[in-house]
Amino acid sequence: MNIKQHSFLWLAGAVLLAGCQQNKKAEESAKAITPEEIKEKIAVLAADSLTGRKPFTAGENKATAYISSEFKKAGLEPGNNGSYLQDVPMVEITSTAAGKMDIDGGKTPLSLAATTDFVAFSRREVDSVQLKNSPMVFVGYGVVAPEYHWNDYAGLDVKGKTVVVLVSDPGFKSGRKDLFKGDTMTYYGRWTYKFEEAARQGAAGVIIVHQTEPASYGWSVVSNSNSGAKLYLTQKDKHMNRCKVEGWITEVAAKKLMADAGITGDIRAIARDKNFKAIPLNRSVSLALNNKLKYSTSHNVVGILKGTTAPQEYILYTAHWDHLGIGKPDAKGDSIYNGAVDNADGVASIIGIANAFAKAKDKPKRSIVFLAVTAEEQGLLGSEYYATHPIYPLNKTVANLNMDAIGDYGETKDIAITGKGQNDLEDYVEDIAKQDGLTTVGDRMPGSGSYYRSDHFNFAKLGVPALDINTGSISKTHGGTYGADKQKEYGETRYHQQADNYSADMDATGMVQIADIMFRIGTKLSNETTFPGWKPKSEFKAVRDKAMGK
Ligand SMILES: [Zn+2]
Repeated sequence: MNIKQHSFLWLAGAVLLAGCQQNKKAEESAKAITPEEIKEKIAVLAADSLTGRKPFTAGENKATAYISSEFKKAGLEPGNNGSYLQDVPMVEITSTAAGKMDIDGGKTPLSLAATTDFVAFSRREVDSVQLKNSPMVFVGYGVVAPEYHWNDYAGLDVKGKTVVVLVSDPGFKSGRKDLFKGDTMTYYGRWTYKFEEAARQGAAGVIIVHQTEPASYGWSVVSNSNSGAKLYLTQKDKHMNRCKVEGWITEVAAKKLMADAGITGDIRAIARDKNFKAIPLNRSVSLALNNKLKYSTSHNVVGILKGTTAPQEYILYTAHWDHLGIGKPDAKGDSIYNGAVDNADGVASIIGIANAFAKAKDKPKRSIVFLAVTAEEQGLLGSEYYATHPIYPLNKTVANLNMDAIGDYGETKDIAITGKGQNDLEDYVEDIAKQDGLTTVGDRMPGSGSYYRSDHFNFAKLGVPALDINTGSISKTHGGTYGADKQKEYGETRYHQQADNYSADMDATGMVQIADIMFRIGTKLSNETTFPGWKPKSEFKAVRDKAMGK
């Protein structure tokens, strides 16, 4: 079926739908966004002609042109000084170890092999970096968390040294709910944090000890995703503020490394002790990395609907437009990663929301910004760029509402809140859930740190209350385990695979359900004068309070 036929059917469907909903006053907003329009947009964005929407490809140009034109059609003004595009300059760095990782000292020197024992890379935009006899120190979880009265770096000078840290945070599998957030990962448990903190402390190198359970993935994931080219945003200081070397080692290698310093047994328990102090490993590490650099520019797409009475305050909707491009053919001979669910459906949904605002009788008082970001799949880069180069000030940004890979298995009785327990925006979801007779649930795997794994996180990190929701697992119409089965099926057979395709049988009613909730939250926020905040225990509360002058 081609697009034209599809639009015709869609129109016929919309007329019928409008007719039967006329007497359902409570569902007024549901009329504003239809499954047909969402599907029409997914069909465009996930078409083979967009070649998997990888940044810097012809697929990028087609995707960003289409989204710009949809924003325009919805009546949004260009969001970036007369343009719908925001440049996102990036650097691709391919780091290769020049040899083994040599670790001297201790009873026996160690010589670790790249990929099998360790992975190492550098963000520094230079041709090569080197650690030469850098003294190694075990700093436990490598966490500085004032709100939990925790500082693994207390009294320690790590300049020129290489720190060895554990993955996840002290709470994980501690059996204590009051230690950090228990089994729910805080940002202090995320690997990105470990690298950032080590850099703030001035360490020369930082190595994370991989353990499968707390990482929530095996060594193969670490070694696969860290060999080859990595994309970063370019930085004025060429990332010279980062450690020379960032990396991971296997648990087996780490145990050998630590045994001589008397660290044996359960290393997580040792580092979890409240009297834990960093332990010098009496060893030093040498490693050289060669870097290949390539610079390119990708684009975010941004449109704005100006508020009527408080136009200088903003509600920010986000969804990433990019996906994984073209790879090797799968069993069916399909080589294109079309990313229909991930994340053509999120983009289609925010366009749907833009149209809903355009059609609404009462115009919002605050401004509504729609941002389709690039390079999420490469490390949340487009949203990081916007958050660190905001077009509209972050302390005037009331909330970020993010949509990523919404389920295509219909409406559910439960709404999943990513990282539940973070901020006041969840209360808005609860209110709507109550009105609609729904429940809310948190992450299926709280230890995996889902809240830190999509674009909303870059706003959270800088203090903007951010919300990411999705359909749950209890199907409204199919009963039984249908929803959960569909989630599993997606995870195993389509997620980040070539089979994430558009299909005419896709059930977009769940996307509409989520888009409708997000539209209602945005509408409510846009007519308020208050700023929602973070829950007292959130790691993002302090930065927001500071930004708001509290
Ligand atoms: Zn993805």
